[in-house]
Amino acid sequence: MSRIAYVNGQYELHADAFVHVEDRGYQFADAVYEVCEIRNGLIVDETGHMDRLGRSLSELEIVNPMSRQAFGLVLREVVRRNLVKDGIVYIQVSRGVSPRNHAFPPAGVRPSVVLTAKHMKPKNAAAQKGGKAVTVPENRWERVDIKTVGLLSNCIAKEKATQEGAYEAWYVTDDGMVTEGSSSNAWIVTKDGVLVTRQATGGILKGITRGVVLRMCKQMGQRFEERAFSLEEAFEAREAFVTSATSIVMPIVQIDDRVIGNGHPGNTSIELRKAFHSHAELVPLHQPWQI
Ligand code: PMP
Repeated sequence: MSRIAYVNGQYELHADAFVHVEDRGYQFADAVYEVCEIRNGLIVDETGHMDRLGRSLSELEIVNPMSRQAFGLVLREVVRRNLVKDGIVYIQVSRGVSPRNHAFPPAGVRPSVVLTAKHMKPKNAAAQKGGKAVTVPENRWERVDIKTVGLLSNCIAKEKATQEGAYEAWYVTDDGMVTEGSSSNAWIVTKDGVLVTRQATGGILKGITRGVVLRMCKQMGQRFEERAFSLEEAFEAREAFVTSATSIVMPIVQIDDRVIGNGHPGNTSIELRKAFHSHAELVPLHQPWQI
Protein backbone atom coordinates (compact mmCIF):
# COMPACT_ATOMS: atom_id res chain seq x y z
CA MET A 1 0.00 0.00 0.00
CA SER A 2 1.35 3.46 -0.91
CA ARG A 3 1.77 6.09 1.77
CA ILE A 4 -0.24 9.27 1.40
CA ALA A 5 0.69 12.77 2.57
CA TYR A 6 -1.43 15.89 2.85
CA VAL A 7 0.24 18.93 1.27
CA ASN A 8 -1.54 22.27 1.09
CA GLY A 9 -5.02 20.97 0.45
CA GLN A 10 -4.16 17.85 -1.55
CA TYR A 11 -3.69 14.22 -0.63
CA GLU A 12 -0.69 13.02 -2.61
CA LEU A 13 1.46 9.95 -2.90
CA HIS A 14 4.07 10.33 -0.17
CA ALA A 15 6.83 9.65 -2.70
CA ASP A 16 5.64 12.56 -4.86
CA ALA A 17 4.78 15.02 -2.06
CA PHE A 18 6.89 18.20 -2.20
CA VAL A 19 6.97 21.75 -1.00
CA HIS A 20 8.58 24.57 -2.96
CA VAL A 21 12.36 25.20 -2.81
CA GLU A 22 11.65 28.65 -1.39
CA ASP A 23 9.44 27.40 1.39
CA ARG A 24 10.62 29.22 4.50
CA GLY A 25 10.51 25.99 6.46
CA TYR A 26 13.12 24.58 4.09
CA GLN A 27 15.31 27.71 3.92
CA PHE A 28 15.07 29.13 7.45
CA ALA A 29 13.48 26.43 9.62
CA ASP A 30 10.66 28.98 9.80
CA ALA A 31 8.08 26.34 10.66
CA VAL A 32 6.50 24.57 13.60
CA TYR A 33 5.30 21.02 14.06
CA GLU A 34 3.50 18.52 16.25
CA VAL A 35 3.64 14.77 16.64
CA CYS A 36 0.64 12.90 18.07
CA GLU A 37 0.62 9.27 18.97
CA ILE A 38 -2.00 6.98 17.42
CA ARG A 39 -2.62 4.06 19.73
CA ASN A 40 -4.94 1.20 18.93
CA GLY A 41 -6.94 3.37 16.53
CA LEU A 42 -7.25 6.22 19.04
CA ILE A 43 -5.64 9.62 18.83
CA VAL A 44 -3.74 10.52 22.00
CA ASP A 45 -3.92 14.02 23.50
CA GLU A 46 -5.10 15.76 20.34
CA THR A 47 -6.32 18.76 22.35
CA GLY A 48 -2.96 19.31 24.03
CA HIS A 49 -1.03 18.99 20.78
CA MET A 50 -3.37 21.29 18.86
CA ASP A 51 -3.26 23.85 21.69
CA ARG A 52 0.52 23.80 21.58
CA LEU A 53 0.55 24.08 17.76
CA GLY A 54 -1.61 27.19 18.10
CA ARG A 55 0.76 28.63 20.71
CA SER A 56 3.89 27.90 18.61
CA LEU A 57 2.29 29.62 15.60
CA SER A 58 1.21 32.64 17.58
CA GLU A 59 4.64 33.03 19.27
CA LEU A 60 6.14 33.24 15.75
CA GLU A 61 3.32 35.38 14.37
CA ILE A 62 2.45 32.80 11.74
CA VAL A 63 -1.23 33.05 10.92
CA ASN A 64 -2.91 29.76 11.77
CA PRO A 65 -4.00 28.61 8.31
CA MET A 66 -6.69 26.14 9.38
CA SER A 67 -9.38 25.87 12.01
CA ARG A 68 -9.06 23.28 14.76
CA GLN A 69 -11.90 21.40 13.13
CA ALA A 70 -10.20 21.37 9.72
CA PHE A 71 -6.95 20.12 11.25
CA GLY A 72 -8.94 17.41 13.01
CA LEU A 73 -10.55 16.29 9.75
CA VAL A 74 -7.31 16.24 7.75
CA LEU A 75 -5.48 14.48 10.56
CA ARG A 76 -8.09 11.73 10.63
CA GLU A 77 -8.10 11.44 6.85
CA VAL A 78 -4.31 11.10 6.71
CA VAL A 79 -4.35 8.45 9.39
CA ARG A 80 -7.22 6.67 7.63
CA ARG A 81 -5.61 6.76 4.19
CA ASN A 82 -2.39 5.33 5.62
CA LEU A 83 -4.27 2.65 7.60
CA VAL A 84 -2.37 3.55 10.75
CA LYS A 85 -3.61 1.82 13.88
CA ASP A 86 -0.47 2.25 15.99
CA GLY A 87 1.91 5.00 15.01
CA ILE A 88 2.17 8.73 14.74
CA VAL A 89 0.70 11.62 12.82
CA TYR A 90 3.03 14.51 11.98
CA ILE A 91 1.76 18.05 11.41
CA GLN A 92 3.98 20.83 10.08
CA VAL A 93 3.10 24.43 9.32
CA SER A 94 5.66 26.79 7.78
CA ARG A 95 5.37 30.52 7.17
CA GLY A 96 4.98 29.70 3.48
CA VAL A 97 6.73 30.24 0.17
CA SER A 98 8.31 33.60 -0.58
CA PRO A 99 11.48 34.90 -2.33
CA ARG A 100 14.38 34.31 0.07
CA ASN A 101 14.66 37.19 2.51
CA HIS A 102 15.23 36.93 6.24
CA ALA A 103 12.44 39.36 7.16
CA PHE A 104 8.94 37.95 7.18
CA PRO A 105 7.12 37.98 3.82
CA PRO A 106 4.32 40.47 3.21
CA ALA A 107 0.87 39.72 4.59
CA GLY A 108 -1.10 37.33 2.43
CA VAL A 109 1.57 34.66 1.96
CA ARG A 110 -0.17 31.43 2.82
CA PRO A 111 1.47 29.09 5.37
CA SER A 112 2.35 25.64 4.03
CA VAL A 113 0.63 22.75 5.75
CA VAL A 114 1.90 19.17 5.60
CA LEU A 115 0.53 16.14 7.43
CA THR A 116 1.93 12.62 7.28
CA ALA A 117 1.20 9.47 9.24
CA LYS A 118 3.21 6.33 9.76
CA HIS A 119 3.09 3.02 11.54
CA MET A 120 5.18 2.67 14.67
CA LYS A 121 4.96 -0.14 17.17
CA PRO A 122 4.77 0.80 20.85
CA LYS A 123 8.30 0.61 22.29
CA ASN A 124 7.43 -1.92 24.96
CA ALA A 125 10.45 -4.15 24.46
CA ALA A 126 12.85 -1.20 24.79
CA ALA A 127 10.97 -0.03 27.88
CA GLN A 128 11.37 -3.41 29.55
CA LYS A 129 15.13 -3.15 29.28
CA GLY A 130 15.43 0.60 29.74
CA GLY A 131 17.81 2.78 27.78
CA LYS A 132 20.96 4.80 28.17
CA ALA A 133 21.26 8.60 27.99
CA VAL A 134 24.42 10.40 26.97
CA THR A 135 24.93 14.01 27.95
CA VAL A 136 25.57 16.88 25.56
CA PRO A 137 26.18 20.57 26.26
CA GLU A 138 23.05 22.73 26.10
CA ASN A 139 23.69 24.88 23.04
CA ARG A 140 20.21 25.71 21.77
CA TRP A 141 18.55 29.08 21.48
CA GLU A 142 16.37 30.45 24.26
CA ARG A 143 13.03 29.75 22.60
CA VAL A 144 13.00 25.98 22.85
CA ASP A 145 9.51 26.39 24.31
CA ILE A 146 8.39 26.90 20.69
CA LYS A 147 8.17 23.62 18.81
CA THR A 148 10.03 24.68 15.67
CA VAL A 149 11.59 22.44 13.05
CA GLY A 150 14.95 24.11 13.83
CA LEU A 151 16.27 20.87 15.27
CA LEU A 152 19.88 20.73 14.07
CA SER A 153 21.31 20.77 17.60
CA ASN A 154 18.82 18.06 18.57
CA CYS A 155 19.81 15.97 15.52
CA ILE A 156 23.51 16.23 16.40
CA ALA A 157 22.71 15.27 19.99
CA LYS A 158 20.63 12.26 18.90
CA GLU A 159 23.35 11.20 16.47
CA LYS A 160 25.80 11.13 19.39
CA ALA A 161 23.33 9.03 21.36
CA THR A 162 22.87 6.65 18.44
CA GLN A 163 26.61 6.26 17.88
CA GLU A 164 27.06 5.44 21.56
CA GLY A 165 24.22 2.93 21.58
CA ALA A 166 22.08 5.21 23.74
CA TYR A 167 18.36 5.85 23.58
CA GLU A 168 18.52 9.58 24.19
CA ALA A 169 20.86 12.55 24.71
CA TRP A 170 20.29 14.82 27.70
CA TYR A 171 21.18 18.47 27.45
CA VAL A 172 23.22 19.80 30.38
CA THR A 173 23.82 23.52 30.95
CA ASP A 174 27.23 25.08 31.77
CA ASP A 175 26.29 24.99 35.46
CA GLY A 176 25.55 21.27 35.40
CA MET A 177 21.75 21.34 35.23
CA VAL A 178 19.79 18.93 33.03
CA THR A 179 17.26 20.67 30.80
CA GLU A 180 15.66 17.95 28.65
CA GLY A 181 16.33 15.27 26.08
CA SER A 182 16.94 15.88 22.38
CA SER A 183 13.33 14.83 21.73
CA SER A 184 11.88 14.21 25.17
CA ASN A 185 11.51 15.63 28.66
CA ALA A 186 13.86 14.38 31.38
CA TRP A 187 12.77 13.09 34.78
CA ILE A 188 14.32 11.56 37.87
CA VAL A 189 12.89 9.85 40.93
CA THR A 190 14.88 10.85 44.01
CA LYS A 191 15.96 8.41 46.73
CA ASP A 192 12.96 9.74 48.72
CA GLY A 193 10.60 8.76 45.90
CA VAL A 194 9.90 12.28 44.64
CA LEU A 195 9.50 12.74 40.89
CA VAL A 196 11.43 15.73 39.56
CA THR A 197 11.25 17.35 36.14
CA ARG A 198 12.39 20.80 35.12
CA GLN A 199 9.84 23.61 35.39
CA ALA A 200 8.41 24.63 32.02
CA THR A 201 9.10 28.33 32.42
CA GLY A 202 12.04 28.29 30.01
CA GLY A 203 14.80 26.01 28.82
CA ILE A 204 12.51 23.15 27.76
CA LEU A 205 9.61 22.29 25.54
CA LYS A 206 6.49 21.88 27.64
CA GLY A 207 5.80 18.27 26.69
CA ILE A 208 2.23 17.11 26.37
CA THR A 209 3.25 13.70 27.75
CA ARG A 210 4.99 15.50 30.63
CA GLY A 211 1.71 17.28 31.37
CA VAL A 212 -0.22 14.01 31.48
CA VAL A 213 2.38 12.45 33.81
CA LEU A 214 2.17 15.46 36.14
CA ARG A 215 -1.61 15.10 36.18
CA MET A 216 -1.21 11.39 36.94
CA CYS A 217 1.07 12.25 39.88
CA LYS A 218 -1.63 14.53 41.32
CA GLN A 219 -4.34 11.92 40.83
CA MET A 220 -2.24 9.08 42.22
CA GLY A 221 -0.94 11.04 45.21
CA GLN A 222 2.60 10.67 43.89
CA ARG A 223 4.94 13.39 45.22
CA PHE A 224 6.55 15.50 42.50
CA GLU A 225 8.49 18.73 42.06
CA GLU A 226 8.82 20.89 38.97
CA ARG A 227 12.32 22.26 39.38
CA ALA A 228 15.75 22.15 37.80
CA PHE A 229 17.90 19.17 38.75
CA SER A 230 21.61 18.66 38.24
CA LEU A 231 23.41 15.86 36.46
CA GLU A 232 24.97 14.98 39.83
CA GLU A 233 21.51 14.61 41.33
CA ALA A 234 20.47 12.42 38.39
CA PHE A 235 23.49 10.15 38.95
CA GLU A 236 22.31 9.58 42.53
CA ALA A 237 18.63 9.15 41.62
CA ARG A 238 16.66 5.98 42.27
CA GLU A 239 15.22 6.10 38.76
CA ALA A 240 15.37 8.22 35.64
CA PHE A 241 13.10 8.29 32.61
CA VAL A 242 12.05 10.37 29.64
CA THR A 243 8.62 11.28 28.32
CA SER A 244 7.42 12.07 24.81
CA ALA A 245 4.54 11.25 22.51
CA THR A 246 6.58 8.51 20.83
CA SER A 247 8.34 7.15 23.94
CA ILE A 248 5.47 7.63 26.43
CA VAL A 249 7.49 6.82 29.58
CA MET A 250 10.89 5.29 28.80
CA PRO A 251 13.11 4.23 31.69
CA ILE A 252 16.71 5.46 31.60
CA VAL A 253 19.00 3.04 33.39
CA GLN A 254 22.37 4.60 32.60
CA ILE A 255 23.57 8.17 32.10
CA ASP A 256 26.99 8.38 30.43
CA ASP A 257 28.99 5.75 32.32
CA ARG A 258 26.93 5.91 35.53
CA VAL A 259 24.35 3.23 36.26
CA ILE A 260 21.10 4.63 37.67
CA GLY A 261 19.55 2.79 40.62
CA ASN A 262 20.08 -0.94 40.16
CA GLY A 263 20.48 -0.61 36.40
CA HIS A 264 16.96 -1.84 35.68
CA PRO A 265 13.75 0.08 34.98
CA GLY A 266 12.29 1.22 38.30
CA ASN A 267 8.78 0.59 39.60
CA THR A 268 7.67 4.20 39.27
CA SER A 269 8.61 4.41 35.59
CA ILE A 270 7.04 1.03 34.88
CA GLU A 271 3.81 1.95 36.67
CA LEU A 272 3.56 5.32 34.94
CA ARG A 273 4.09 3.70 31.56
CA LYS A 274 1.44 1.06 32.21
CA ALA A 275 -1.13 3.57 33.46
CA PHE A 276 -0.39 6.34 30.94
CA HIS A 277 -3.09 5.67 28.38
CA SER A 278 -5.82 5.44 30.97
CA HIS A 279 -5.00 9.05 31.95
CA ALA A 280 -4.37 10.53 28.49
CA GLU A 281 -7.09 11.96 26.26
CA LEU A 282 -8.05 9.22 23.79
CA VAL A 283 -10.36 10.06 20.91
CA PRO A 284 -11.44 7.42 18.40
CA LEU A 285 -10.41 7.81 14.79
CA HIS A 286 -12.72 6.46 12.16
CA GLN A 287 -11.62 2.94 11.42
CA PRO A 288 -10.97 2.21 7.74
CA TRP A 289 -13.73 -0.40 7.63
CA GLN A 290 -16.29 2.09 9.00
CA ILE A 291 -15.90 4.57 6.14
N1 PMP B 1 11.34 18.08 24.38
C1 PMP B 1 11.70 18.04 23.09
C2 PMP B 1 12.92 18.80 22.65
C3 PMP B 1 10.95 17.31 22.16
O1 PMP B 1 11.29 17.29 20.86
C4 PMP B 1 9.83 16.58 22.62
C5 PMP B 1 9.04 15.73 21.65
N2 PMP B 1 8.28 16.47 20.79
C6 PMP B 1 9.48 16.64 23.96
C7 PMP B 1 10.27 17.40 24.82
C8 PMP B 1 8.29 15.89 24.50
O2 PMP B 1 7.11 16.49 24.06
P1 PMP B 1 5.75 15.65 23.90
O3 PMP B 1 5.55 14.94 25.20
O4 PMP B 1 4.73 16.69 23.64
O5 PMP B 1 5.97 14.72 22.76
